[in-house]
Amino acid sequence: MNYDHILVRYGELTLKSKNRKIFVDALRRTMIQTLEPFGVHVKANRDRAYIELNNADPYKVMDALKHVTGILSVSPVVKLEKTNAAMQKNAVDFAHEFQDGSTFKIEVKRADKGYPLKTFDIQQLLGSHVLENTEEITVDVRQPDYEIMVEVRQDAVYMYREVIACVGGFPAGTGGRAILMLSGGIDSPVAAFEIMKKGVEVEAVHFHSPPYTSPQATEKVKQLVDIISDRTGVDIRLNIVPFTELQTTIYDRIPQSLSMTSTRRIMLRIAEKLASRKHAGAIVNGENLGQVASQTMTSMHVINRVTSFPILRPLLTLEKDEIIGKAKAYGTYETSILPFEDCCTIFTPKSPKTKPSLEKVEGFESRVDFEPLIDEAADNIEVYISNTEAESESFESLL
Ligand code: ATP
Ligand code: MG
Repeated sequence: MNYDHILVRYGELTLKSKNRKIFVDALRRTMIQTLEPFGVHVKANRDRAYIELNNADPYKVMDALKHVTGILSVSPVVKLEKTNAAMQKNAVDFAHEFQDGSTFKIEVKRADKGYPLKTFDIQQLLGSHVLENTEEITVDVRQPDYEIMVEVRQDAVYMYREVIACVGGFPAGTGGRAILMLSGGIDSPVAAFEIMKKGVEVEAVHFHSPPYTSPQATEKVKQLVDIISDRTGVDIRLNIVPFTELQTTIYDRIPQSLSMTSTRRIMLRIAEKLASRKHAGAIVNGENLGQVASQTMTSMHVINRVTSFPILRPLLTLEKDEIIGKAKAYGTYETSILPFEDCCTIFTPKSPKTKPSLEKVEGFESRVDFEPLIDEAADNIEVYISNTEAESESFESLL
């Protein structure tokens, strides 16, 4: 079929009617950026968008839109002149692709109330014309093998057969900004997609501990950032924090059973600095209730105490299988399972406390002057922007 447009239906936009223009503008920008390589033309209206294909492959274009947040579904469509003859001809073209012995149905939406034929009449006209011009197919309005959908609108008639579900949610940037704690694991990249789905723009932070963690481990995180960026059509900035000094200090000065708790608390203090300087409203991580010692409710409480920023945990209650399923669907799974060590895995104590005491953690931490080390780590952040070569910037220059 010679599809000439993609019809794009919006996600939850209607919930926020006052913000509609902001939402549509944001979605238009992301679609234009995502579709740049295809040479298509994006026309985003108040209630839906049309992508003029200019001979681009409709399925490749739709694939690129699948993870763009704010899009509910897409359909490859043929745009037709508003005449009975044009509709009849195209319905038959569609039907010629149906298998012999199959059934079909015509579904009409008549948005243009001025069109001379009523909905039912259009259905009859097209249905009988298709039957007259084909041999081996019949009508079944209940459970058809194929549907031909016809939308009669003010500007034209749009005809299509498929509605392909996309990610939904809100367009990028309409939900504020957050700092995303990104490890090389399975969970945090999924948390990225989930929070971005709500329109939140993320800036990622990753803590590495060379030489205990390898350069490949950091490369893996950059790759994950690239995948998230490619999928969503949004550029992502990754802040890579040198964490070795802090990690070894924790190892030397904090009892083993509390070292994981302290590690998380120190990471969070750095994430918080970043959040306030970037005017972010929250910190996001991939934590999941009960999954490991640092993710019990008591642990989360003790870790949380170092910051007043809200910590968003999009994966909090999901099952591990569900998270893995999502990682596969988002395309991050294969990269996440590459076997490079994360700084936390290397320094993970044998038996971390599942119920750490806030008093004790604070007591041990107060005997170490972490602040200068935190400042030093923060001053030596390396910045990587998705799909570019790494560049170095000091923390101060990011202000
Ligand atoms: P993930 O698969 O996301 O690593 P996990 O189940 O392995 O999660 P943890 O390693 O305990 O769990 O980490 C919990 C969360 O803390 C991660 O989801 C991530 O948001 C954050 N985190 C852990 N390690 C790092 C790191 N090196 N850099 C940045 N954030 C991290
Ligand atoms: Mg991990």
